[in-house]
Amino acid sequence: MTVVDPDLRAVKTTCAYCGVGCGILATPDGRGGAAISGDPEHPANFGRLCSKGSALGETLGLTNRLLYPMIRCGEGNMERVAWSDALDHVAHRFQHIVARDGPGAVAFYLSGQLLTEDYYVANKLMKGFIGSANVDTNSRLCMASSVAGHRRAFGADTVPDVTRISTTPTFWCWSAPTRHGVTQCCTSACWSTSRSAARESS
Ligand code: SF4
Repeated sequence: MTVVDPDLRAVKTTCAYCGVGCGILATPDGRGGAAISGDPEHPANFGRLCSKGSALGETLGLTNRLLYPMIRCGEGNMERVAWSDALDHVAHRFQHIVARDGPGAVAFYLSGQLLTEDYYVANKLMKGFIGSANVDTNSRLCMASSVAGHRRAFGADTVPDVTRISTTPTFWCWSAPTRHGVTQCCTSACWSTSRSAARESS
């Protein structure tokens, strides 16, 4: 548990994990870490955070992060290597697999957080150079869960009118927030609605 010096002031910031954009209060612990809590005044979450946002403080340290290229060597141990060696190694392994088994034997799975230009370059590399259509991103996985949720909840893959949901007296939403899906909107609307209802009843 992070112990926080009460003299250190909380910084208002935003959780960047998904599109809900919950407000958080980050209070530095003076040792490079911070205690994280939901900002009670932020309209997106009114003080609440999901499990990912709540654990943001655990991501601040560098101890368990991969900070430089490493290759698993013969004994199974990971050894630090130069970027040029790591890139050569990956290129040679790709070349070897493509030559032996064909372009369909390799695939790229890209981050959902790349920029459009990055996606373009990665798709050009896979489709135009390597010659395979095996390229996808985790953004599709996020949207796939949203589509499944839409179809089961509303009968179609369409974005619901969240303004109507937020004025509905009873609305239940249980979702794991995703970066791209409407489930995040539902989560936000649900929190807002419950907060409004609580204010009205008090
Ligand atoms: S719903 Fe969770 S992941 Fe998304 S912004 Fe809020 S705390 Fe972060």
